[in-house]
Amino acid sequence: MSRPDRLTCEEMFRRLDDYMDRELSADEAALVREHLETCAVCAAEYAFESSMLRSVRAKLSHISAPPDLMRKISLRLAEAERRGE
Ligand SMILES: [Zn+2]
Repeated sequence: MSRPDRLTCEEMFRRLDDYMDRELSADEAALVREHLETCAVCAAEYAFESSMLRSVRAKLSHISAPPDLMRKISLRLAEAERRGE
């Protein structure tokens, strides 16, 4: 087997941003989905991050920010969250 059939939580967190940005390969996205279905800790983290991103994106859509600015803000939010700020 060349790839694990399950992710550890650490591997999961490393992929979470890419998963939310739809930048993972189909294989990796499937692993992330599988982990989210079986791990309450990561599922809660994903729910928190995605709801935060949704609300930021909703606000930004009202002021029609350019997509690359939205992406930068999303990355900053994810970084801040990882550092526990
Ligand atoms: Zn996990």
